Amino acid sequence: MNATASRVLVLNSGSSSVKYQLLDMADRSRLAVGLVERIGEETSRLVHGSPAGGGKREQLGPIADHAEALKAVAAELAADGLGLDSPELAAVGHRVVHGGTRFTEPTLVDDEVLAEIGKLVPLAPLHNPANITGIRVALSLRPDIPQVAVFDTAFHATIPDHAARYAIDAETAAKYSVRRYGFHGTSHAYVSRAAAALLGKAPQEVNVIVLHLGNGASASAVRGGVCVDTSMGLTPLEGLVMGTRSGDLDPAVIFHLARVGGLSVDEIDSLLNKRSGLLGMCGDNDMREVLRRAGEGDEAARTAFATYTYRLRKYIGAYTAALGRVDAVVFTAGVGENSAEVREAAVDGLDALGLVLDPEANSVRSPEPRIVSADRARVAVAVIPTDEELEIAEQSYALVTR
Ligand code: ADP
Repeated sequence: MNATASRVLVLNSGSSSVKYQLLDMADRSRLAVGLVERIGEETSRLVHGSPAGGGKREQLGPIADHAEALKAVAAELAADGLGLDSPELAAVGHRVVHGGTRFTEPTLVDDEVLAEIGKLVPLAPLHNPANITGIRVALSLRPDIPQVAVFDTAFHATIPDHAARYAIDAETAAKYSVRRYGFHGTSHAYVSRAAAALLGKAPQEVNVIVLHLGNGASASAVRGGVCVDTSMGLTPLEGLVMGTRSGDLDPAVIFHLARVGGLSVDEIDSLLNKRSGLLGMCGDNDMREVLRRAGEGDEAARTAFATYTYRLRKYIGAYTAALGRVDAVVFTAGVGENSAEVREAAVDGLDALGLVLDPEANSVRSPEPRIVSADRARVAVAVIPTDEELEIAEQSYALVTR
């Protein structure tokens, strides 16, 4: 690697999209940010922005596959003088959703690692194949540059067995790799560290509950910088109520729907992942719309909001028990960062656990990390914008420069 190379390209390859950011780790600045969506359709769209280069550009028209998408991204970067052939590029960091029990650290990709990520496809059938494609295409463009895989599951690898195991037949669990893996790990890692910084302490000194509330949502309990529990499980379906996912339910709901409702496994899978949560309960998955309707007295929206926030209170209680002592409850991602209503309802009535909001501080909108609890509260409530791309870039850069 070029000794002065300090740029990292972060790629988040989904089944029909690629999100990317080019960062300069010398000052953690963003050189370019963009997105290709609807890959494989006639209506593909590339949006590219570069504060350093030519501003924002949009490209419409069919992009057949991920290879074409990444080539188009490379061309946009080159047009801004940020081409992937630059000697300043130190690494490409890839978000990989499932690392199983094998990958617990950022990992330099080689053929063996790619094959192992491939073996985990049954655990993340929608995500890992797209992640692998992204890595292969990036490798074909710059075979000489280190490709680093950063796993969504990795931060949760420290969860002890008693929290990671499901109480099912041990042989069956082992045979089919059934256990809690957890997701959104880069966000939970970034936000729990930032929470310690906000409290003016080292990560080792604080216990934090992180509530990552985006379209997908998950909670984690982090003791002294080490994750000890998280709400997502074998897949991202378990736990909190989400935009379109149910979160926790009695597993027998599935048998009931199959036996009595005559639904197939695939139909139930789709119901629970794509047509449940806020969307299933009230017809809207965007929290802004749910709040607007609830404010107008819409019963279904009110019930969806109440179910969503009650589940949050239950997890705060559970993770307070898991941690023993809690220093901060932190809200992050689209809903957590922006919705004062959700934060208020999520800690409502939890004074006995030391959680008391400052209504004024909670109502302020800001992109900065901030504390929104009352001075007298024993537990800080904080809002910390997540930055998964920066975390992936940091981890990738640390690996290639150590
Ligand atoms: P993703 O999981 O796709 O990364 P985000 O973290 O961007 O999602 O969160 C997206 C969600 O954030 C949207 O579904 C929307 O409901 C919610 N959101 C964004 N702004 C607000 C707001 N002002 N109030 C409530 N919810 C919001």
